[in-house]
Amino acid sequence: MNRFTDFLKYFYQKSQRLKLPFLVYPKGHGRKFSVSPAKMREFNNVRFHGPKRLACYNPFVNLYFNSRGQAVVCCRNQDTVLGTYPESNIKDIWFGTIADKLREHLLNNDFSMGCSYCQHQFETSRFYGLPSMHADYYASTKVKYPKIIELELSNTCNLQCVMCSGIVSSTIRKHREKLPPLENHYDEKFVEQLREFLPHAKEIKFYGGEPFLIDTYYQIWDELLKIKSKSKLHVVTNGTILNDKVRNYLGNLKFTITVSFDAMNKELFESIRVGANFENVKSHIEEYNVLLGGKGLSLSLTPMKTNCREVPIVIDYCNTLNATINLSFVENPSEMALWTMCSQDLKELELYYKSFNFKPYKGVNAEYNIKAYYQFVNQIATYQQANQKIEDEFFQKLKTEDEARKIVKLILSQAIKENIIFESDRTEIVNVINKIGSKLSNSQQHVYFGNLAALLENRGLELVNDLMTDGLDTNKLNDSLQRMSKMPDIYKHTYL
Ligand code: SF4
Repeated sequence: MNRFTDFLKYFYQKSQRLKLPFLVYPKGHGRKFSVSPAKMREFNNVRFHGPKRLACYNPFVNLYFNSRGQAVVCCRNQDTVLGTYPESNIKDIWFGTIADKLREHLLNNDFSMGCSYCQHQFETSRFYGLPSMHADYYASTKVKYPKIIELELSNTCNLQCVMCSGIVSSTIRKHREKLPPLENHYDEKFVEQLREFLPHAKEIKFYGGEPFLIDTYYQIWDELLKIKSKSKLHVVTNGTILNDKVRNYLGNLKFTITVSFDAMNKELFESIRVGANFENVKSHIEEYNVLLGGKGLSLSLTPMKTNCREVPIVIDYCNTLNATINLSFVENPSEMALWTMCSQDLKELELYYKSFNFKPYKGVNAEYNIKAYYQFVNQIATYQQANQKIEDEFFQKLKTEDEARKIVKLILSQAIKENIIFESDRTEIVNVINKIGSKLSNSQQHVYFGNLAALLENRGLELVNDLMTDGLDTNKLNDSLQRMSKMPDIYKHTYL
């Protein structure tokens, strides 16, 4: 650990804060999504490269190519496409009209041109890891060649991670989605056009798929070796590939690496990163760290329902490696995402996080990790409050057990009157209803009877008719009733 560098970083961060009271923020001119000055001050307080007027400089300094041939300005704004390769050339894309329009929006701190991810993170005050922070070091509104180039040129990947899709993994596309391979948009001419941009780029980032399996990246790294590039190169890898060719690039170009790593528990890790071997990835992480000289390694964890308790454990591991943590955010699949957890589980998770004892740590990276962790914990608390509110509203609207029983009684009496069921059927139906209800917790009972009441109110006699089509089938009745004790998906409006 270089304590002098740590001290310089600390001093730099503190000195940058002095600018804060003197900044004048864009007024937004009545724009709907403009960030308020108060929110900007909050954000500016944690910005590593100091306070700035604008929330995001990506459109001025960052160019990103995705696997569909589209150019955008950051990974989180895929809606505003500046242009598509090979239909347009790289120069026309970067200096084109759509890019200018997005720049004009962000000159007003206006997130309405596809920046909903940042809008949400701003609203919940989770700033660490925001893609807009990545551009801060080069903050400028003058449009020259991009200082940062991000490449996600192909979905070639050897894994089938559970939260991932065929857009980013060729193996998922083939095996899980059973779709034909994605069209490859990038050819040697792309590398030729990029040549003009390479000497201006201070940072070039390589994503996948799995970057160490993508041929075009090897061509670009060879170009960079030829021009003896001093650019900072960054790779986001799944950590499964480390061969001599890769070792050569890591030794002769200026690399940093992020490894996707979701758990310290082998079974859990391998159940998420399907196709990866835990020991293999962990040993590669440790060798990457040595090859990078003990600096420039980061681990990216995607907290989901299954692995959310691993977050502080992986951060402990990061701290021992002097690596930084990146806590990713899962919006979809929503059933895996933390924001769809019930408020009680979120509360328990928050308490677990708050009581976790980290191993002793020191250094700027570890301090960053702990700060990022507590912002993440605050976001969990925000979700807890939001979901509590949604549940309260949901339960308020739900009929009680007494009300539900009255509705059941009424519908079944009508059914007897209309000769749909006999008295003996009524007794059997009520028995099944009671049997299921008696095995449920209080809150499950509320959901169960509430759902039953709502259903009978809507489809009452019609439902009993369906049930009696081939005589009373208690197994079928049992299965349908069991489903009613499940909470419906009420959280879908929590995020975005
Ligand atoms: S999504 Fe965020 S980081 Fe990306 S351009 Fe918009 S504000 Fe900037």
